[in-house]
Amino acid sequence: MEKFKFLIMGAGPSGLAFAHTLLRHGERSFVVMEKEVQAGGLCRSKTVDGSPLDIGGGHFLDTRIPHVVDFLFQFLPKDQWTIFERKSAIDFGDYSVDYPIESNIWQLPVEKQVEYIEAVAYSGENMGVNTPEKFQDWILWKLGRKIADDYMFPYNRKIWSIDLEELGTYWIDKLPSVSFREVLFSCLSRKPFGKVPAHQTFYYPENYGYGEVWDRMGRELGDKLLLSMPVRTLDAPNRTVNRQISADIIINTVPLSSFELAGVPGDIQNSIASLKHAGIQIDYYNTNLESDKQWIYIPNEQVSYHRILNRKTFVNGSHGYWTETNLRRAVETSARVAVNDFSYPINTREKPMLMKKIAAFFSGLNIYGLGRWGTWEHINSDIAVKQGIELAEMLLNKTTK
Ligand SMILES: Cc1cc2nc3c(=O)[nH]c(=O)nc-3n(C[C@H](O)[C@H](O)[C@H](O)COP(=O)(O)OP(=O)(O)OC[C@H]3O[C@@H](n4cnc5c(N)ncnc54)[C@H](O)[C@@H]3O)c2cc1C
Repeated sequence: MEKFKFLIMGAGPSGLAFAHTLLRHGERSFVVMEKEVQAGGLCRSKTVDGSPLDIGGGHFLDTRIPHVVDFLFQFLPKDQWTIFERKSAIDFGDYSVDYPIESNIWQLPVEKQVEYIEAVAYSGENMGVNTPEKFQDWILWKLGRKIADDYMFPYNRKIWSIDLEELGTYWIDKLPSVSFREVLFSCLSRKPFGKVPAHQTFYYPENYGYGEVWDRMGRELGDKLLLSMPVRTLDAPNRTVNRQISADIIINTVPLSSFELAGVPGDIQNSIASLKHAGIQIDYYNTNLESDKQWIYIPNEQVSYHRILNRKTFVNGSHGYWTETNLRRAVETSARVAVNDFSYPINTREKPMLMKKIAAFFSGLNIYGLGRWGTWEHINSDIAVKQGIELAEMLLNKTTK
């Protein structure tokens, strides 16, 4: 039996940031267990058809958090990243509109603009109706029938592949927020108005895939990173993993449902089993698209994939494109390059209550949830890093007092 002060489960961005923060504070009694052969989690890349491809789906660095930027640029310096202006669109088949549609209705033929504006004008929000609690109702309430039927309902049915009735609204601050007044302003002045979506400008490595920065972080951990070493069992009260390694504090960044738990009461096990997630398949095609958009959303439900990543627009010297398809809609194809079982935590209405219960139980045993799967939050990699740094500093402070 090996014993450490800290055991970190998972070497994605959150686990890596946690581990490097320990090292920076001189703490060396830790180990990181990772099931894959390479660090980086959903942010990994591999070479496909001569150029990098992000195997967890298209990844871009967009952060305004200075200490996260400083942290990342220590592994891949700033001058090795390119800054891009976001160009993304929604493809409706016979026409296409920049994202988000509510800021870009002005790009449509006038007759269509009138239909969309009229529907927004009669939406619940503009008719003084209270904010609904289900995501499906919120879409209609906020955006009106036309945007709901043409884009938001079909696109969300594709990406989540569950009944939209199950989703809550506590996460909608991640979505664009455009008022009716801003819709009118944008149509009359023929330019976008309203809160801009994420990744308005973003960084992507100049000569590598997004995975490079995390791969370097993993390699710098040396023998503290155990690759191809999955967590198979966790004896929670004794903080022992695989009956082999134990620690004073365990940091969990992996889905709790992906290994066997001992010493965990039935109602906590049931809460874990009730958490929902979506996986995606990545398919690569070596033909070039004519579009200059970096990514394109596809709401058409007859098409299996929901997003296209136009690789040649952001990976130097590359060609081709890849698609992202929810695993429930995906079929095995010769174009398949990656399958990720855990891609998106799903924001069901009961999730906040389930996570509160799960986190309270495990933190009582000195097992802390961190990152996308440890908190079951739809966070980006910059937030995973921020949380990793902050949790490590908090626990180091606590244990040295
Ligand atoms: C399609 C898509 C697009 C995205 N786009 C962006 C973007 O543009 N910009 C951005 O910043 N973020 C983006 N994200 C989010 C980003 O992927 C996450 O924020 C980030 O990967 C979270 O890091 P993490 O360490 O918490 O989790 P993960 O990256 O999921 O890492 C978890 C790690 O745990 C390992 N693991 C799992 N089970 C076990 C086990 N039993 N034993 C040991 N190890 C295990 C996994 O192999 C993995 O390495 C996107 C996500 C998706 C799905």
